[in-house]
Amino acid sequence: MSAKIIDGKAFAANVRGKVADHVAHLKEVNGITPGLAVVLVGEDPASQVYVRNKGKQTVEVGMNSIEHKLDASTSEADLLALIDQLNNDPEVHGILCQLPVPDHIDADKVLAAISPAKDVDGFHISNVGLLGTGQKAMVPCTPLGCLMMLREEHGSLSGLNAVVVGRSNIVGKPMAQLLLRDSATVTIAHSRTKDIEEVCRRADILVAAVGRPEMITGDWVKPGATVIDVGINRIPNGEKTKLVGDVHFDSAVEVAGAITPVPGGVGPMTIACLLANTVTACCRAHGLEEPE
Ligand code: NDP
Repeated sequence: MSAKIIDGKAFAANVRGKVADHVAHLKEVNGITPGLAVVLVGEDPASQVYVRNKGKQTVEVGMNSIEHKLDASTSEADLLALIDQLNNDPEVHGILCQLPVPDHIDADKVLAAISPAKDVDGFHISNVGLLGTGQKAMVPCTPLGCLMMLREEHGSLSGLNAVVVGRSNIVGKPMAQLLLRDSATVTIAHSRTKDIEEVCRRADILVAAVGRPEMITGDWVKPGATVIDVGINRIPNGEKTKLVGDVHFDSAVEVAGAITPVPGGVGPMTIACLLANTVTACCRAHGLEEPE
């Protein structure tokens, strides 16, 4: 039997709808418009597309979008000065510096300079620590989107076996922390994991964040498991190219209980969660009730 396909596009539209409602409420009742500042250094084409989409969706939900597009030759000191200015701007509730930054700029230094309260990407070490100790944090957008879909699918995650393949700071590790916070039994697999297929086959929830096209095939999947495919890989397809995940969809869909497709699964959730995080940051800044 074929798995249920989790519709990330529809899910993300729903999240954006709730964000738009909350923004309208903040404007009407509190006279506050949440603002998201996005900083882009250089001309990386993929980053330009992401930044454009983020700006467009920010405006669509009724928030202020503040874009700073800086020349690739911008010095680290000038970028840090801009971040300082945004940290101190009361109209700006969220700050995101699009990665990668050019080689002459230390990305860690830039992330550390963003005020943790405005760190809507959740990459600041303070937010990493808060999440790891079960405290109120800003949570990285992609894993947050995955968690929302898993909660919708399962209700409670308590006691379920979750395997996260990948241990990056932006996806794998925060994903594992979120699953642990929801009382799943969590295993993190990576490039040195022994018998990785066997480890994956024990998972009620299998999250793939590897960056290897179609690595996880149907025979790695426990029958009925929920498979969340974070991977975005562009591979040749005849004369053109196509996007595939880290999961081999056609074989996994035959075994899983539910699965996210690529594209149209986790991808759309990332920006939706960025907008949700900006509203959360705005509410916290003003001591107002946060969205769930
Ligand atoms: P990284 O390259 O930072 O991390 C990949 C992880 O996968 C590492 O921990 C690595 O292990 C592990 N890995 C690599 N090869 C293997 C293997 N053969 N077996 C087991 N584990 C392996 O990637 P990211 O976490 O940044 O991204 C992962 C994927 O998610 C990419 O396809 C990326 O494009 C996509 N992505 C999608 C987003 C979205 O919005 N949907 C957002 C962010 C990322 P080790 O640590 O041992 O090297």
